Amino acid sequence: MRCTLCNTSTIQYGTLCPTCTLTTRNHIADLPRMWEELEDWLTPGSRGASPYSGRPSKVEAPMPLDEDVLSLRAAGGIIGVLEDWHSAVRHARTLPELPAAAAASPARRVHAAAHGLASHIHFIALWEQGPVLGSEIRRLVDRVQNILEPGRNDDAPRFLGHCIAVDESGVVCGAKLYADMSRPVQCDWCLCPYPPSQWLQLRHFQPGRTPTHGDASSPAGRTEERIAA
Ligand SMILES: [Zn+2]
Ligand SMILES: [Zn+2]
Repeated sequence: MRCTLCNTSTIQYGTLCPTCTLTTRNHIADLPRMWEELEDWLTPGSRGASPYSGRPSKVEAPMPLDEDVLSLRAAGGIIGVLEDWHSAVRHARTLPELPAAAAASPARRVHAAAHGLASHIHFIALWEQGPVLGSEIRRLVDRVQNILEPGRNDDAPRFLGHCIAVDESGVVCGAKLYADMSRPVQCDWCLCPYPPSQWLQLRHFQPGRTPTHGDASSPAGRTEERIAA
């Protein structure tokens, strides 16, 4: 059987190969530090290189505030992904529910959820949801690294927009879509495919959006320009 996360390694049992298991664990363990590093990109006037990366301070760095920083730091961003997966793993293992974390500080919540999730890595490697978890965590880390180290990897996923697929009951999917140059774009949630030929249409139908021309400043606009180039 193939590891569905890297699509290269053959595995005897479980759902994640040893390399993907280790990478996923390291990514989870790195997320609290990344979450803290994003703080610099939100706080006006913060100075000084990060003790971790030695990158230039915000004033020297290009394009300091990316829309994605806000969404990564919002409740549904890094915190939400880690907490949701942590409780999904605990549920799958029929462990008691954790007390609601909403009262704790966001930094504590990120630490607690990352620590908790990482402690289940051996289960995750065997779990049928392991590859989904692994790819979500990988994308989260890619998004953070794109902000912390702009230009690091031009092939990293870019936010494309929200999925516009509609189900039989008329509900719009709305899941976030990312353009990743290494594979075709497909909604993780409803599996609707988005070939590049449909990206303009996708942008046109974004929720709450009045279509205008020359909207190159939106993330989707940037992606299309980059691809056309
Ligand atoms: Zn793998
Ligand atoms: Zn979808």
